[in-house]
Amino acid sequence: MDFVYSEICFAHNPPFEVSSGRWQPHSESPARLASIHKALTELPSVFHLVSHRDFGLDPILRVHSPDFVEYLQTIYQEWVAAGRTPQGVLPDSFPHPALVNHLPENRWKASTNSSIEAKVSTYAFDLGTMIVDGTWKAAITSANVALTASYRLMELAKAGGDKPIGTYALCRPPGHHACRAASGGFCYLNNAAIAAQFFNDHDLETATKLLNGEVTSTPRSGVKKKVLIVDVDYHHGNGTQSIFYDTDNVFYISFHGYPDYPYFTGSADETGSGQGEGYNINIPIDAANTTNEEYLEKLKKVLESESVVNYKADVIIVSLGFDTWCEDPVGGIIHFSDANAYKEMGQLFATAKGTKSRPTLFVQEGGYTVPKLGSFAVNVLQGFMDAK
Ligand SMILES: [Zn+2]
Repeated sequence: MDFVYSEICFAHNPPFEVSSGRWQPHSESPARLASIHKALTELPSVFHLVSHRDFGLDPILRVHSPDFVEYLQTIYQEWVAAGRTPQGVLPDSFPHPALVNHLPENRWKASTNSSIEAKVSTYAFDLGTMIVDGTWKAAITSANVALTASYRLMELAKAGGDKPIGTYALCRPPGHHACRAASGGFCYLNNAAIAAQFFNDHDLETATKLLNGEVTSTPRSGVKKKVLIVDVDYHHGNGTQSIFYDTDNVFYISFHGYPDYPYFTGSADETGSGQGEGYNINIPIDAANTTNEEYLEKLKKVLESESVVNYKADVIIVSLGFDTWCEDPVGGIIHFSDANAYKEMGQLFATAKGTKSRPTLFVQEGGYTVPKLGSFAVNVLQGFMDAK
């Protein structure tokens, strides 16, 4: 299986996060990336490294607002130039509904650029997502890692064959919490959403033109490929849900510990709106009482449900987090304690009625039991490839 990875993603290394009232080392560490990369390179006959390529800003701007993208690119230098701590950028207030809801939106939004603190507070929703010197470089590379793996998947799908067709984007920082115009949950750019929109917008021909610089913007001529995103990170992918909430071009399914971070999204009654009604499924998991067998049963059930089978997705994107593991310090489903379950999970994506025989892109999200992450990734991907 081809996987895409870049050392540039090590450049993002915040010194700390604030979580549950504690200042603590940043859980989303470069060591996570190193652990997975090492495990894949130890199996050179199975996993083949593909270097990331630069697709320009256009695919990013199809998902994120231009002001937010410019903010991510410039805020660290602006922050330091304004005399703030070079340690990193964090908000100290938020435009919470209680603070601003009595005002017209354009009034309080006009304050975004009134001070550097107001700007930072507008574009972040928590204290766990610091911006440091290398953040933009790593985040845009992480998005390009996902795009390169998407492009490679298009090439492989065109070539065909009878084996399950998949690629793996070893992304860091992760993406599924990032919204159209806000960072949070260790996420800055939403890699899986950017990839999904790329499949909506492109076939191999137009993607190649974009990559070669023959065109600089994405064609807006209908939906090329319908995408099903299955998010198996421990946390609810609030960002991915919000980005595609009112469209049926992307069907979003999330399995997540509930109630848990990000606390205000992820209930089963969030089902999409407008054109997107019925194309958002949340499966809240009881993290104290669910075994890996029960988790996989629920996954199989939804992947074989009528709505998913009838959707007839052209492409599957798996938002792959390993913070479901029982020992995970950030997430953790207490009885998810058999590493073989990750192999079965990979098999399921290749065999379930709603996902089988589809090109499948695995995008790395969370997972914080650093020494074990590599073996978990190998399990999922080998389970997928070896499925009969
Ligand atoms: Zn997570």
